[in-house]
Amino acid sequence: MAEASFIPYGTQWIADDDIAAVVSVLRGDYLTQGPYVQAFEEAIAEYVGARYCVAFCNATAALQCAVNALGIPSGFEGITSTNTFVASANCMVYNRLKPVFADIDPQTFNVTADTILPHLNIRTKVIIPVHFAGQPCDMKSIFSLAKDNGCFVIEDAAHAIGSLYADGSRVGNCKYSEMTVFSFHPVKTITTGEGGAVTTNDANLYQKLLFLRSHGITKDLKLLSQLPGPWYYEQQELGYNFRITDLQCALGVQQLKKLDEFKKRRRDIILSYNDELSPLSNVTIPFELEGLDSCFHLYVLQIDFTAVGLNRSCVMEALRSRGVGSQVHYIPVHTQPWYQKMYGYSWGEYPVAEAYYEKTLSLPLYPKMNDADVKRVIESVREVLTA
Ligand SMILES: *Cc1c(COP(=O)(O)O)cnc(C)c1O
Repeated sequence: MAEASFIPYGTQWIADDDIAAVVSVLRGDYLTQGPYVQAFEEAIAEYVGARYCVAFCNATAALQCAVNALGIPSGFEGITSTNTFVASANCMVYNRLKPVFADIDPQTFNVTADTILPHLNIRTKVIIPVHFAGQPCDMKSIFSLAKDNGCFVIEDAAHAIGSLYADGSRVGNCKYSEMTVFSFHPVKTITTGEGGAVTTNDANLYQKLLFLRSHGITKDLKLLSQLPGPWYYEQQELGYNFRITDLQCALGVQQLKKLDEFKKRRRDIILSYNDELSPLSNVTIPFELEGLDSCFHLYVLQIDFTAVGLNRSCVMEALRSRGVGSQVHYIPVHTQPWYQKMYGYSWGEYPVAEAYYEKTLSLPLYPKMNDADVKRVIESVREVLTA
């Protein structure tokens, strides 16, 4: 029998049509700012049901520009989840805002209006909820809390392209936010290699995002103060070079066509995991709120390692020796050394996220997994946790 290959916790699915799309760009005239950037942006906007989309070189840059576009003066504060990747908080620091964290709901691992409320104050100007693992936060209540307190909302939907809110509409339509940010890193649901995007329904924010992506420069005749000749452009803002390329966007256009299929496969794998792993003692399967239809990015188990009698490193190592990858999402951001040093955060401040962190382990979840892979993951977890 051929040796079974390693099953990582997440990976992309690139098929021949994806490769052909990228190669056709390589043979064409534009490698960077060609027709595919706009085609990808239009396809994302149409899919999620937003008026505008601006694609960026990665979601971290997209988050940074989304915060920047709001024009909040330095010294004010923003709130995000502590159960997230550091980029959700760093984007505020880049814009000289103080990052403040909110604890999570113990079932969904998402922030809620109730967990955000104690951290709101007169200086709070933006709330950045993270749709953890792909399950949307309760945006209706978060958005109304934000509006009651004069705050903007940016959804960090890096995990959640393809997910639906409780009302059945798509994450990214910005019904409950000023802007929504997606990531197209290879472990995320669809990929452009590196890549990200912001969606919005606000024409001013859209224009601002376009400026910020490319040095604050425009050649748009409607925006120039003068037109001395055909060479002319103006820098009207301080922006960055956070552009995405045509090569990446050609891949993105292809990948987006497969999103619904990817979502279905992800959900089928989760059903198998839930069926087979829920009977295990000391293990809690992920919880999906009634009525939601999420495109899950992560499959997160809660394991009582003490009761199992193995620490998390031993479990990860035992899985690895069976060819099964796993990962931890997330180390609470407020416990990162830099955040502790700069802002004085410490262990104990967000007890639900900290208790969650002690127990969490993400199992492999990606659409390219076949049934034999899924079976191997289930059997390995069973063996390791019941040894
Ligand atoms: C991956 C991720 C990001 C950053 O995405 P990049 O495209 O890698 O910059 C931001 N927020 C969350 C929650 C993520 O998982």
